[in-house]
Amino acid sequence: MSTAGFDPRAAGVAALAQALRARQLSSVEVTQALLAAVRREDQALGAFLHVDDERALAEARAADLRIAGGEGGPLTGVPVAHKDIFATDFARTRLPTTAGSKMLAGYASPFDATVVARLGPGSAGAGDGSGGGAGMVTLGKLNCDEFAMGSSNENSAYAPVRNPWDRTRVPGGSSGGSAAAVAARLVPAATGTDTGGSIRQPASFCGVTGIKPTYGLVSRWGMVAFASSLDQAGPLARSAEDCALLLSAMSGFDPRDATSAERPPVDLHAAMLQRREGATAARPLAGLRIGLPQEFFPPELAPDVAGAVRAALAEMEKLGAVLVDVSLPRTELSIPVYYIIAPAEASSNLSRYDGVRYGHRAAAAADLLEMYKKSRSEGFGAEVKRRVMIGTYVLSHGYYDAYYLQAQKLRRMIADDFQACFQRCDVVAGPVAPTVAWKLGAQADDPVKAYLADIFTLPASLAGLPGMSVPAGFAHSAAGDALPVGLQLIGNYFAEGTLLNAAHALQQATDWHLREPRR
Ligand code: GLN
Repeated sequence: MSTAGFDPRAAGVAALAQALRARQLSSVEVTQALLAAVRREDQALGAFLHVDDERALAEARAADLRIAGGEGGPLTGVPVAHKDIFATDFARTRLPTTAGSKMLAGYASPFDATVVARLGPGSAGAGDGSGGGAGMVTLGKLNCDEFAMGSSNENSAYAPVRNPWDRTRVPGGSSGGSAAAVAARLVPAATGTDTGGSIRQPASFCGVTGIKPTYGLVSRWGMVAFASSLDQAGPLARSAEDCALLLSAMSGFDPRDATSAERPPVDLHAAMLQRREGATAARPLAGLRIGLPQEFFPPELAPDVAGAVRAALAEMEKLGAVLVDVSLPRTELSIPVYYIIAPAEASSNLSRYDGVRYGHRAAAAADLLEMYKKSRSEGFGAEVKRRVMIGTYVLSHGYYDAYYLQAQKLRRMIADDFQACFQRCDVVAGPVAPTVAWKLGAQADDPVKAYLADIFTLPASLAGLPGMSVPAGFAHSAAGDALPVGLQLIGNYFAEGTLLNAAHALQQATDWHLREPRR
């Protein structure tokens, strides 16, 4: 077998899987090529936190055997990298799980997250030797904001990640390593998590496709918790098709996550390909009603972002979609609502890091209380501490009713607003973020400025709805650099198939998602 004529870095997930099954090249060859690229190029980007070549190659050899035995599935042997918020069994993978925090430096998880197991080896006892997993090869773990708190990756305790389109800019966050690695063609797909936009916004800033599914579609078991009522996992890849393949394998009921939805498994790739009623080859989106909330196109929206989003919507119109005006009147309120609920849940979730069972423990402490205090002050970074303090405050006696309870009521109203929209349309669309990727350090001294930039991703998170970021062209910096813009598509509960179908049709007709940054 040779890789002659086939550049493993040029191919996405679907193309790679096909080449592997056709025995055009082996998973070992693909994995070797990507590992070499990571060694060569990632120093300038900082997307990977942990890589283990030998173990990755062993996984690739196992995948090759599975394919040779005729047991390869649609993802077998294709490399993937995981946001370092997913637990990876250390004994199996040699990969630590740090959540981008000093608190968990070197932490060796005794188990795999459900997402990791489903995409990779599966779990023991599947009966057919496959373990029931998709058989993807884990290339490594990806940098992220500490405990997924942030939107620029600058809150990582390890290193900032750089945007492959312009290395003086942020890749977005908190799944910044995931988006940067996929954009730089270091890996064809990555996992991410999205609590208030952390898959969609970095996908938008790095020009890749990402989907945050309906809350409950993907198991949170083994995902380091930030805000449990909002956290969801999803894929980032080059295309809607590749996202559909990964999301199908990741999703499904898991009894170990009490909020996991008990629904029959869905084939999202088939849903993505399904022809709409009344559609033709030229008009695949015939009859699709796309709702544009006026609040998603405020006058202060960056003109180049608005222009790119409108151009993508015009393409969808050409493909048969109908644009309708809708309203999400509480869009602005989603910022204070989210920044009360998410820190409240975070302050509770992070109370487990006390230096006793796992995580950083301060060296010298006179008594137990001092050990707690020192371990936490040394282990957590500034943004995490800020959120713990806000969360503790809004939950405290006397303030609970004024803040937390009000936020919960508004959260319900925001969800109701979406249901009113879905009376009039199938999909809600707008920008993912109000700007393109900003310069490293530009918002470092002003956390509120960063919070405000989450305005378009927070509503779907609060409502628990699926949201997708689709490359929609480019804005240009003063220096003339092309900076990607993302179109956001939001669907009703469990309508991931509709989103992927619409995005796929757009990607069949346009080539924004195929553009690559200079290597
Ligand atoms: N930027 C948001 C925050 O800082 C969202 C992060 C996320 O989705 N994990 O909380």
